[in-house]
Amino acid sequence: MNDAPTRSPPKDAAAISEAAAGAILTIDLGAIRQNYRRLKARLGGVRCAGVVKADGYGLGAREVAAALQDEGCDIFFVALLAEGLDLRKAVGAGPDIYVLNGLPPGSEPEAVAAGLCAVINSTGQLKAWRDAARSAGRELPAAIQVDSGMSRLGMAPAEVETVARDASAFAGIDVRLLMSHLACADEPHHPANEQQLIAFERLREMLPKAPASLANSSGIFLGPSYHYDLARPGAALYGINPTPDEPNPMLPVVRLQAKVAQTRRVEKGAGIGYGHSFRAEGPLRLATISFGYADGWLRRSVSAAWFEGVRLPFLGRVSMDSIILDMSALPPGRLGEGDLVELLGPSQTVDDAAGHAGTIGYEILASLGRRFHRDYVGG
Ligand SMILES: *Cc1c(COP(=O)(O)O)cnc(C)c1O
Repeated sequence: MNDAPTRSPPKDAAAISEAAAGAILTIDLGAIRQNYRRLKARLGGVRCAGVVKADGYGLGAREVAAALQDEGCDIFFVALLAEGLDLRKAVGAGPDIYVLNGLPPGSEPEAVAAGLCAVINSTGQLKAWRDAARSAGRELPAAIQVDSGMSRLGMAPAEVETVARDASAFAGIDVRLLMSHLACADEPHHPANEQQLIAFERLREMLPKAPASLANSSGIFLGPSYHYDLARPGAALYGINPTPDEPNPMLPVVRLQAKVAQTRRVEKGAGIGYGHSFRAEGPLRLATISFGYADGWLRRSVSAAWFEGVRLPFLGRVSMDSIILDMSALPPGRLGEGDLVELLGPSQTVDDAAGHAGTIGYEILASLGRRFHRDYVGG
C-alpha cells in the first residue's frame, strides 16, 4: 500500500487484506469503550469487569481487552483455560483473569504458571486448587462460584454446606470473589431473579468473606440490589441490547459488509440457487455476494442485505460462500462488482439479524467467520 508508512503495521501477520477478502468486519473499539463507560455510570461506584470469552464474542479478545484496559478495566473473564493463556500474553501480568468454566483436572500447573485465577465450581476443583497452592508454596487466587439456581456451573448448595463445615477447606486459597450467574436476567419480571438473589445471599453467608459478583449485562439493569461489588458484562459491551423489551441503551459496535462478486439479470421462470427453492416470477436483477454460511451467517435465516438504505432480500438458499440478492429495487447499474453491501450495521443491527434468524445476538456475533478483513477503528 502506498500510504503504508503512515499506518501502523498489521498486528496479526495472518491478517487478511481488504482486497483479498470477501467481506469486511469493522469493529468500533471506541464504541466498546463508550459502552463500558455507560455501564460503569449505571453501576455507580461498583467495579466492572470485561467478559471476553469466545474470542471477545467473536470480535477479538486481545483487541477488546486492550481497549477496556485503556478504560481502567483490570478484571477479565474467559470461559476456557486456553482463552486465559492467550489473553494473559495480550494484557500483561497485571489484570486478574478468571476462567469461568473451571480448570480441567490436571491443568492447574499451567494456570498457575500463567498467573490465572481459578473459578472453583466444585469441591473437587477446590481440592485441586488447594493442592496446587501447596505445590506452588504460595496462596493462589480464585473465585468461588455457587449455583444459586441456574443448574449450570458452580457449587451446589449441599456442596457449599459441606465446605462450610471444613475449617481447612480454603487453605492456601486467596478467595477474591464469590460469584453466581443469573438464568433470567434479560426478563426483569421473572421470579427467578429474586429467588437467585435470595439463594446467593444464603450461600454467601456460609463462605469466606470476599467481594461478590452476580450481574451479567442484563443483571446490571435489574437494579443496584444485583450489583454487589463487581459486574461481569459481556454482551452489552459488544452492542447487544441488554434490555430486550426496551430501546437499546448501548452503542452499536460492529459493521459487516460483503463484496458483490457478480451481478446478472434473469427472466421470469429462472431457478435461483441450490434446489431452485426460489423461482423468478418476473424479470429480476440479482447480485451475488462473497459471503455465505461458512462466514457464520446461519443458513436458515430469512434475511436481507442493505445498500444505501435500500433493502436487498436474499433469494433462494444461502450457499457456503455466496448469497444471491434481489437488487431490483436499485436503479440499474447502481451496484456492481466489488461494491459493498451491509449485513450488519446501521440498517440491520446484530439484534435485528438475530430476530431474522430466530436466535439471539450472542449467537450472531459468536458465529462470525474467520476469513473477513478485520478493521479495528476508534482504538
Ligand atoms: C457469559 C457470562 C457473563 C457475561 O454475560 P452477558 O450476558 O454476555 O453479559 C457473565 N458471567 C458468566 C458466568 C458468564 O458465563
